Amino acid sequence: MSNSTSPKLNWGNTIFLTILHIIGPFLIGIYLYHFGLSFSLVTLGLIFYFLTGLSITAGYHRLFAHKSYVAHPALEYFYLIFGAAAYQNSALNWCFDHRIHHRYVDQEDDPYTIKKGFWYAHIGWIIEASKEKNFPQYKRDLVRNPRVVWQDKYYLLISTLSSLVLPALIAGIWGEFLGGFIIAGVARLIIVHHATFFINSLCHMWGKQTYTDTNTAKDNFILALFTYGEGFHNFHHLFHNDYRNGIRWFHFDPTKWLIKFTSYFGLAQKLYKTPSRKIFLAKLEMRKKKIAQKESLSKLKSNWSDYIDSVIEKLDSTYGEWFDLKEQYKVAYSEFKKSKTKLAKANMQKLKIEANEAKLRYKHTYRYWRSYSRLLLRSQCV
Ligand SMILES: [Zn+2]
Ligand SMILES: [Zn+2]
Repeated sequence: MSNSTSPKLNWGNTIFLTILHIIGPFLIGIYLYHFGLSFSLVTLGLIFYFLTGLSITAGYHRLFAHKSYVAHPALEYFYLIFGAAAYQNSALNWCFDHRIHHRYVDQEDDPYTIKKGFWYAHIGWIIEASKEKNFPQYKRDLVRNPRVVWQDKYYLLISTLSSLVLPALIAGIWGEFLGGFIIAGVARLIIVHHATFFINSLCHMWGKQTYTDTNTAKDNFILALFTYGEGFHNFHHLFHNDYRNGIRWFHFDPTKWLIKFTSYFGLAQKLYKTPSRKIFLAKLEMRKKKIAQKESLSKLKSNWSDYIDSVIEKLDSTYGEWFDLKEQYKVAYSEFKKSKTKLAKANMQKLKIEANEAKLRYKHTYRYWRSYSRLLLRSQCV
């Protein structure tokens, strides 16, 4: 490549990442060779791994960038201090890039577009000097938050103290100052970097497009294990205001659990959840789209397209009916709890039976839809 087309480098980031990835492993190796690894250091490293990574995902990402809930100023300070310890820029700049990523995903203006390859989306975009971005609207609300502005102003000092000095001082209490710096500081930082960088790279490469195929974001439960629950990225790109990325109770999403946990103490409020019917319809539409893309089905004589529409309509109505009755049952239940009257009890029981009947009707239709849509998707018509 000629010099005229070579990208300009962000020298600060390039030098920092080079030192971290070359001198870092060297220091870690020497330390392990001479001192080994104590249980206390591993514990401290793990605590800092979760503190800093979750401050990025629950703080920088879901709170400041997407406003999926409202946090108490004390919690904001917490996330700003430990988010800085991940050395990923100030929250103000991080959110600015991330909002542009969502708005222009996969396009030229996407700061870490996967269209430029794994390396670029993972780390290359950080070492390249960023182009002038004229999108003031993506910072406007953040510059009105004095805590975000404070962190942006003193970012380098805060990150050095919380990322490297603090773990060293803590480990120094039991005589492992150097170990605290190298293991809970440097080694932990390298791991947190790549765990969170995977969200921009692998989460746009591997996995399922369960809810939308209008962008490259993928749902991948294995990546969720390494990314603090951010692996359900296809869902996130469609419903970015949702405080959850993994919506089912068994989806590994420690960020969602932390946000919920802090809400029990009044530290987090107004946790936004996408209406379940909206999610349900997006999933159905996506499956319908996948079926319609199968060229071989055009050879089928049956009017499968109209049939799919009628099944989806029935699914939507049975789901809506079940959902409404469930809500009515919840109201009747709380009324019975308050009044304890026979009439309230009878009403509650009636609604319980009706809601269960509606659930059965929906489940029956859903099972039918699942078998039929799978049949069409797997068909090989010649
Ligand atoms: Zn993304
Ligand atoms: Zn996002």
